Amino acid sequence: MLTEDELAYFKNELEEMKKQIESNLDSTSFEMNSLRDNEPKDEGDHATMQRRQTIGNSILLKQSEKLEAIERSLKRIENDTYGICEACEEEINIERLKVKVFADYCISCREAIEKENS
Ligand SMILES: [Zn+2]
Repeated sequence: MLTEDELAYFKNELEEMKKQIESNLDSTSFEMNSLRDNEPKDEGDHATMQRRQTIGNSILLKQSEKLEAIERSLKRIENDTYGICEACEEEINIERLKVKVFADYCISCREAIEKENS
């Protein structure tokens, strides 16, 4: 089990990460809104804008997925289930948590899932 100090450390990390992503999301949405307000002058402009919007969208998507994972982890801290693998219910190695504080699965389950998806 994780000690209280360790939990406090992970909670702090998660909250910092959450703040960072939220401000990233704000500035990306802001940038995309201002892109939309600019009328393209010619075809070249139009293509550039579309490309930038596509990049913007995929960044937004990635960031919001990460944000969701972080929120799941914060909820698990509240429920005293943080650090437990979602799939096998074993404890996730603390070294792995330090690298990926919002990990849902232990390494072996993660690898199994990735194999299934590929
Ligand atoms: Zn597992």
